[in-house]
Amino acid sequence: MKSPSRFIPLRIERQEDGLWIEWAAGHRALYPSRSLRLACPCAVCVEEMTGRPLLDPGAIPDSIQPMQIRLVGNYGLRVTWNDGHDTGIFTFQALAGLCPCDQCRLAQS
Ligand SMILES: [Zn+2]
Ligand SMILES: [Zn+2]
Repeated sequence: MKSPSRFIPLRIERQEDGLWIEWAAGHRALYPSRSLRLACPCAVCVEEMTGRPLLDPGAIPDSIQPMQIRLVGNYGLRVTWNDGHDTGIFTFQALAGLCPCDQCRLAQS
C-alpha cells in the first residue's frame, strides 16, 4: 500500500474467524484470527527491548477468536481474545503491514 490513506480503515468488522478490514487505500481482507493473535505486539507477547517473541505459537489454539474490538484513539485497535488476552494494541500502521489481501500477498511473494 503506497497511498497516504493506507493507514485509514473505512470499516472494521469482527467475525468469528477473524477481523474484516477495509482500508481507504482500497485494500480489503479478512485477517485470520490465529495469525492476528500471533502478531500481538504487547509486552507479554513480545520482549519490549529486543523485539524477541515471547509468545509460544503452540499455546494459541485454532479455536482462537476475537471477542471484542475497541478503537484506541485514532491510531489503533485493542482486541479482546477468547483466551482472555486483551493487552495488545494493533496500530493501523501495523495492521496495514499485515494486510493479507491478494494484492499484498502477491507483492510479498
Ligand atoms: Zn499480547
Ligand atoms: Zn492489501
